[in-house]
Parts: sequence; structure tokens; C-alpha cells
Amino acid sequence: MKTWRDNVRKVVPYVPGEQPKRKVIKLNTNENPYPPSPKVEEALQGFDAECLRLYPDPDCFSLRTVLAEYYGFEPENVFVGVGSDDVISMAFMTFFNSDKPILFPDITYSFYSVWADLHKIPYETVAVDENFKIIKEDFYRENGGVIFPNPNAPTAICETLEFVKDILENNRDVVVIVDEAYIDFGGESVLELTREYDNLLVVQTFSKSRSMAGMRIGYAIGNQELIKAMNDVKFSFNSYTMNQSALYIGGEEVKDDEYFKKTTQKIIATREKTKERLKELGFEYTDSKANFLFVTHKTKKAKDIFEDLKQKDIFVRYFNLPRIDNYLRITIGTDEEMDSLITALKEIL
Ligand SMILES: *Cc1c(COP(=O)(O)O)cnc(C)c1O
Repeated sequence: MKTWRDNVRKVVPYVPGEQPKRKVIKLNTNENPYPPSPKVEEALQGFDAECLRLYPDPDCFSLRTVLAEYYGFEPENVFVGVGSDDVISMAFMTFFNSDKPILFPDITYSFYSVWADLHKIPYETVAVDENFKIIKEDFYRENGGVIFPNPNAPTAICETLEFVKDILENNRDVVVIVDEAYIDFGGESVLELTREYDNLLVVQTFSKSRSMAGMRIGYAIGNQELIKAMNDVKFSFNSYTMNQSALYIGGEEVKDDEYFKKTTQKIIATREKTKERLKELGFEYTDSKANFLFVTHKTKKAKDIFEDLKQKDIFVRYFNLPRIDNYLRITIGTDEEMDSLITALKEIL
């Protein structure tokens, strides 16, 4: 017998890192350990609740303008959404409509395969090498589109602009999305290449380097035709994705560049210090250009370290997935938080 259950869309959802209710040392979802700019706090206090009566600007013009000015583009080159997850999902819907499979690395942000399934997009994964590096030549074949994060997650490895350019040169007929969620932590952005390659879409977020994961703001920059196509899809789906407060406060954050640069540098410095201390404890790791480290221990199993740390109220991320099930992804917190991590690890190991 047929039931309504036969018509339910069956998806295996992405599983986000835990958000524990009690206070713990939280190094599991790559949030920024520092609060957003004091300008954001000021803006929140000056926020006029009266405006909530009205629908927000569906074009998100003010925020797009601030971002365009900051990066040296026109507002028509900028698309904003509810975190980069929303932006990327919208980009999948907009650009990945071929019968040919889209390509992404086998070890990467695990949301890509979920969106592909949700939107019924065929995909193939491309294996990274034994050092977790993307093999660019393996992307030089017929496909329906390409997406990868740079730096890659969870490996933290960042490729050069020339490397990305090679992938673009060999994929002129499809849209290539570069997910730069972690680019501000020492990598080289390919934003400038969007002027040269009309098929390149670069996605960034306020959630990591800009300390605003809770506000949900992400954006894409690309040539005007790409951005127009994304807006056509957005306006066919939900005209008002961005709420009034996000539109207003996001712009204020971007204007405080000094604070943004200062906190980002601090995280990079903490990362480099933490690497050395982890090495002394017998850990190995990739060359991270992100706000997290991807580590494995010479003798103790990652899963056991993960569980032992949790007992001590220190949360890191463990993925029970092929090839990476002996690795941990550890977010860079404050210096004090990393001190606690090292102390705890000394007790565990
Ligand atoms: C964190 C992350 C995102 C999504 O971040 P939002 O909070 O939705 O902006 C996208 N891609 C990668 C690789 C990430 O790690």
C-alpha cells in the first residue's frame, strides 16, 4: 500500500559539532574565541527595534555595498546569505544542473555531499593524496562543476593562487566554487581571479575570522552574471533571507578592519605556538593555514583522546570517517584555552 511516507524526501543530514549547554572549553566548531568588534556591540545597542515591523531590504543593498567597497568590487558582484552554508546551497541550486557529476575532494567539508543529495546533483569525489593534498590534475576531466574549500577542511591545508588558477584554466566550461571560509588565517585569497574568470565564485563567511557565527552571514563574490543568476534563484525561493539586524550589524563589523586584523593575527600566533607544544607531546599535523589544527598522535588513538578530553570538558572534533578516523580537528581558542588543552593532554597521554 502506498502511503505519504513514500513521497517524503529522504536525506541524511549534515551533523554539526555539538553545542553543549554547560560551559566547556569549546574547540570543536571553529568558532572565533574573541568577541566581535566593539563596534558591533555599539551597533546592537543602537539598533532600532521599530524597523523589525518592516520586511528587510530583499536586495541587501547596504551590506553588499560595504562588502563590495571593502574588497574593491561593485555591489553587483556580491551575494549575501544566511551564513555561507546558505550561500553555497543556493550556488549548488543555481550552477550545478548538469547530468555530469560535480567534483570535490574525498576529504572535505562534509556538507557538500549532503547538498548534492538534497538537490539531486550527481557527484564524484576526488581522492586527496596520502598527505591529504588535493591533486589538481584529477580535476581536469569532464564534470558538471567543481567545489573545494581553500584552506581545505578539515585538513587545514591551503593551496596557492597559481594552483587554483590551474584548476580554473582546466575547467573553463563549468562553475568553480572556492569556499574560503578560513582564508583570513594566512592563506592567499583568489578573489582577484573573479575579474579574469567569469566561472569563478568565491564564498566567504562572517562565522570564523569575523567572530559572528551566531549572526549567520555569508557572502559570495563573482562576476555580475553569476551573482544575478544566484539572485534569480534566491528570489524564487525566499526573498527575505537576511534579517534586519544581520544586514545592519554585518556592515558595522566590516568597517572595523583594525580589530578584525588584530584578532586574526592573535589566532595565527596562538596556532603557531600550539603546534610546537603539540609536537613535544608526540602529535603530528598538517601545515595549517586555518583557525584549527588537524592532528594525529604517534601512539594514542584519536578517538580515545577525543573521549578523554571530553571527560575533562574540553570538546574537540572527531570524524569517524574513512582515512581520517585517527585524526582530531582542534579549533584554536585563546592562549588560556590552549594552556588548558595542553595541561589536559599531558594528563591523558
Ligand atoms: C564553517 C564552514 C562553512 C559555513 O559557515 P557558515 O557559518 O554557514 O558561514 C562553510 N564551509 C566551510 C569549509 C566551513 O568550515
